[in-house]
Amino acid sequence: MAFGTIFGQEHALSLLQKALVSTHLGHAYLFYGPSGVGKKLTALQFAKILLCQSATAEACDMCAACHKMTTGNHPDVVVINPEGASIRIEHIRTMQRQLGYKPYEGQRTVIIIDGCENLTPPAANALLKTLEEPPGSALLLLLTSRKDALPLTLVSRCQQIPFRPLPPPYIREILIQQGIDEPTATLVATLSEGRVDTWIQTEISQVLTRRQSAYMLLRERGHTNSTPLFLLARQCAGSREQCDEVLHWLSLFCRDLVMLKVASATPLYNHDLQAELASLANSLPSAEPLLDFFASLEQLRHCLAMNVNPQLTFEQLVIQLQQFLGTSRIA
Ligand SMILES: [Zn+2]
Repeated sequence: MAFGTIFGQEHALSLLQKALVSTHLGHAYLFYGPSGVGKKLTALQFAKILLCQSATAEACDMCAACHKMTTGNHPDVVVINPEGASIRIEHIRTMQRQLGYKPYEGQRTVIIIDGCENLTPPAANALLKTLEEPPGSALLLLLTSRKDALPLTLVSRCQQIPFRPLPPPYIREILIQQGIDEPTATLVATLSEGRVDTWIQTEISQVLTRRQSAYMLLRERGHTNSTPLFLLARQCAGSREQCDEVLHWLSLFCRDLVMLKVASATPLYNHDLQAELASLANSLPSAEPLLDFFASLEQLRHCLAMNVNPQLTFEQLVIQLQQFLGTSRIA
């Protein structure tokens, strides 16, 4: 039942299952797709099936090898994670040394490299050598949320396994299994855009706080005195990542408001604020200013990604918020 613990990735699992029953298991697979959709869990379960002593296309969950996989102690599995922002050449050299020995217990050594987009160029080059001439017992599972950031030479030497954003009902189920209450799980599943990682339990309150900040900015935009709005914007302008998230929430609110204006039966992302958003939408003459503001949000996010100071970005945001959605534009 190793793959039974993975939700919403039927296509990826069927490709891996085919590989398991075929006589030609590849020596390197690239798992790519958004972060937080189950790539690492799948890699670990794939390794578990391969190392299971029952030698079938499933893990027995009873043998010593399965037990070691469950407790994260199998000596023939090496997981490499980025240290800080990068995976350096020393990590790859250590891995290559291990591949120089025979597996300790089974027939294979499984190497899982998570976050391959963080390989430094020398590390990627060193890894390429292993992919070009892999030892017979090696299986490499490369995981990335940014396939476009990997060298083509590296991508082309792996079999590709695509992972997709998770449908909201799966996310809701996963969150409930993690002990999150049902109303929060339902809300988060709708807001998550198919990713679970941003939403693991400890971060839910933080993400919801950022959504609240975005909502407050929208709500406070109409005052003739702009001081409170600038103060609020200053509180939001913390780290670059925090700023981007608040801008992202503003985009989702904008999208919901446009829907309320032009296609009111469409389900909202922020369905828990339906009544408040409907009254906000009613105060605007048309969808036009929302679309203008939406375009300016995209531009601000682009500027932020290009290293523009978060404080400046948010001052600009206040000006555009008032320009497009301020009192002068309200009917
Ligand atoms: Zn087993």
